[in-house]
Amino acid sequence: MTAGAIPFVARAGDSETDAWVQALQQAMPGERVVRFDALSAEERATCTVAVVANPEPADLRQLPALQWVHSVWAGVERLVAELGDTPLKIVRLVDPQLADTMAEAVLAWTLYLHRDMPRYARQQAEAIWQSQPYVPARQRTVGLLGLGALGEAAARRLLTANFQVRGWSRKHKAIEGVTCFAGDDELQPMLTACDILVCLLPLTPQTTGLLNTERLAWLPRGAQLINFARGRIVDDEALRAALVSGQIAHAVLDVFATEPLPPSEWQWKHPGVTVLPHCSGPTDLGTAAAIVAGNVGNWRQTGELPPAINLGRGY
Ligand code: NDP
Repeated sequence: MTAGAIPFVARAGDSETDAWVQALQQAMPGERVVRFDALSAEERATCTVAVVANPEPADLRQLPALQWVHSVWAGVERLVAELGDTPLKIVRLVDPQLADTMAEAVLAWTLYLHRDMPRYARQQAEAIWQSQPYVPARQRTVGLLGLGALGEAAARRLLTANFQVRGWSRKHKAIEGVTCFAGDDELQPMLTACDILVCLLPLTPQTTGLLNTERLAWLPRGAQLINFARGRIVDDEALRAALVSGQIAHAVLDVFATEPLPPSEWQWKHPGVTVLPHCSGPTDLGTAAAIVAGNVGNWRQTGELPPAINLGRGY
């Protein structure tokens, strides 16, 4: 294997580019890690691997010898969509630290809904002194859409807080303590008992608009929603109507079809929505750089790539 420079390719204006280059260089002292715009002409012509964070596809097309890219993000749906039918292998970040951070966020925001915090905030705004009925966690069912690296960690964390936990994936899973469902046919039976539904699915042609009017109606009336995956999995207008009708009591949204969420969007002002700025699962530079370094080092030594995205499946 010919060792060449490893460019870090991010979208123009990404303020974290230099921090990533530094963290990756520290984790791979035997490699030369450089910003994409600092590559020499010879390096552009010869580099075989790039580390990427939501890169411009046009930048990657300027690297003719490129064999694979390692994303420092767990979600690579935009890259998959923008690269289209590419021979390039795309490897995404699978980081136990990220799974732990996301599991913590799922538990935090599930507890926020479980303990009626949006309602108490509204009561405080109107100086209303009124306690709400308490429901023990063991009587609440939390459903996870997606039981992958993040969904499974979240399911396990929710069990430690005594919630009833259900999960849905494409293929059947067995996770102790979790009632598992799989495939389109089992989505309705999964949703019918979920008091709180947490979305941790990748965005693919199959999951785009998955949570539409029909499927939101499969939830018990007054159910609550947490979307930590990708905005387009939820049909925004269906959600808005479900909030108005009371089918959905509250939604915690960390991800949106357009980010940053434009100030004119209805979610900002809706009393039934908590808006978060895509902060549920931030990447840890140190652990992510170490994982990338391990994967690149192993490939340099053995020629073996880590598991890549299945482009046909979309994740
Ligand atoms: P994985 O690929 O590990 O898991 C995806 C899960 O979704 C799997 O259980 C998979 O099923 C399931 N799934 C995919 N398609 C379908 C379908 N059509 N029907 C049923 N189940 C399906 O992904 P991660 O857990 O690592 O990440 C999930 C998503 O979280 C990312 O794609 C990203 O969009 C988002 N994310 C958000 C962050 C944030 O800060 N808000 C941070 C990081 C990620 P199976 O197990 O059978 O393959």
